[in-house]
Amino acid sequence: MSELVGHLIAGQRIPESGDGDVIDVLNPANGDVLGRVRLDATDAADRAVAAASAAYPSWADTPVGERVQCLFRYKQVLEDHFEELASLIVSEHGKTMGEARGDVRRGIDCVEYACAAPVLMMGNTLPQIAVSSSFCRSEDEGGIGIDSTSERVPLGVCVGVTPFNFPVMVPMWMWPMAVACGNTFVLKPSEKVPLSALREVELAHEAGFPPGVINVVTGGAPVVDRLITHDDVRAVSFVGSTRVARHIYSTACGAGKRAQCMGGAKNFMVIMPDANREAAIEGVLGSAFGNTGQRCLAGSVAAPVGEAAEWFVPAIVEAAKKITVARGDDPAVGMGPLIDSAGCDRVNKYIQIGLDEGAELLLDGREAGVPGGGCFVAPSVFDKVTPAMRLCREEIFGPVLSIYRAGTLDDAIAAINATEYGNMGVIFTSSGYNARRFKVQAKAGMIGINVGVPAPMAVFPFAGWKNSFFGDLHANGEDALRFFTEHKILVSRWL
Ligand code: NAD
Repeated sequence: MSELVGHLIAGQRIPESGDGDVIDVLNPANGDVLGRVRLDATDAADRAVAAASAAYPSWADTPVGERVQCLFRYKQVLEDHFEELASLIVSEHGKTMGEARGDVRRGIDCVEYACAAPVLMMGNTLPQIAVSSSFCRSEDEGGIGIDSTSERVPLGVCVGVTPFNFPVMVPMWMWPMAVACGNTFVLKPSEKVPLSALREVELAHEAGFPPGVINVVTGGAPVVDRLITHDDVRAVSFVGSTRVARHIYSTACGAGKRAQCMGGAKNFMVIMPDANREAAIEGVLGSAFGNTGQRCLAGSVAAPVGEAAEWFVPAIVEAAKKITVARGDDPAVGMGPLIDSAGCDRVNKYIQIGLDEGAELLLDGREAGVPGGGCFVAPSVFDKVTPAMRLCREEIFGPVLSIYRAGTLDDAIAAINATEYGNMGVIFTSSGYNARRFKVQAKAGMIGINVGVPAPMAVFPFAGWKNSFFGDLHANGEDALRFFTEHKILVSRWL
């Protein structure tokens, strides 16, 4: 039986030996067991919060210019271990090597942005907001000036809870900015991919972060529930499904924490008759099947408008057929496995739901034909999907593209706005007028114009709407800085 995966607390790897429910960490390409995670390690959660609390006073007192030196060094350590981290992602998540490299690269972008904390944290001053005439030493002085200043100060111990689909990048949406601002942090990565996060944080200690500033505790829902209600925790950042986001948001807020919770998605891509055909096919293909459809920015519904369906539908089916499904480390791979057999079951269930609802299955990926016991479903394409069908409304999180043949751009926008989600929407067109109309009317936080995956750079907030997000301040960009700090306002007069 393989070993229990431990934790990383106060700069030390802490082995886990407790009992209770466990889950296997699997290589989804072949079913190899890479480790086991104890789901209810609440004792480790308490230890991690205690370590973060102990480290907080001196870390918050460390000048921000010194704090970011750790991040500058960390950026180089990550570059030195780039291929190692990418290979780890391939083995525990199943991504292709190219996708895994993208995961690490986008994570490094967040570290680079957090290096700007000395500039980002600067406050504001407004001198002479009023004049006080009392206490003047002479008539000539005319009054004593009152000045006002706002400063940004850290919160304390912050917690991050992350999903399986970007094992290195999503944790880096959170902790580098949090610690740059002077907070200390406890990360609870997905129990399906804990090894990448543990290595990511172990490398931070090679870069010189003091013990206790960034900690990792592994486990499942019981660990999360302990962390998000812990008396010594000030803020909770969550990324995962809408069901859990809603639970975390209400529980954490109910316990008096600041919370930001990024949830699930159902993303549409509109293809206008005047679109550049190659760009539209390539964009939709990458968006629907990249990362095996396991992206919150995955384009899940393609909506060709009017006559666009005539060229779009046959071309996208032909392109999807050509994707080579294989292990992530196979040089010929175009698309890797799903995360686990539960993921395969869910995707196969949705294919059956689509058939039952009367959609037309143009490409059936249920028999992927990849040898070796991995969790594979090949690209699947449904035509004649309507906005009322579950295929058009529910997150599948797998390589299934549904085609809704929209009569007009207005019909396509109405279908987008009718879903409960609002993460992203994409339009392919050569008309500035239609692109602008789409941008204004589509109710989604991230809009792509002739771009299949409108993933913002780390300097912009990652902005889902509706049930794709619960909270006020999004991940990344200026929002992250604001989420991980609070204002202190000074009003002063010198007598
Ligand atoms: P998930 O919600 O199942 O798990 C996410 C985290 O929550 C994990 O760490 C897990 O241990 C924890 N968790 C699960 N159930 C819990 C419970 N009942 N109580 C407390 N904690 C619990 O999500 P997942 O399957 O790992 O990831 C896929 C989902 O994440 C998709 O819905 C995807 O759209 C979403 N996602 C969203 C974004 C975004 O920015 N909006 C980014 C990436 C992924």
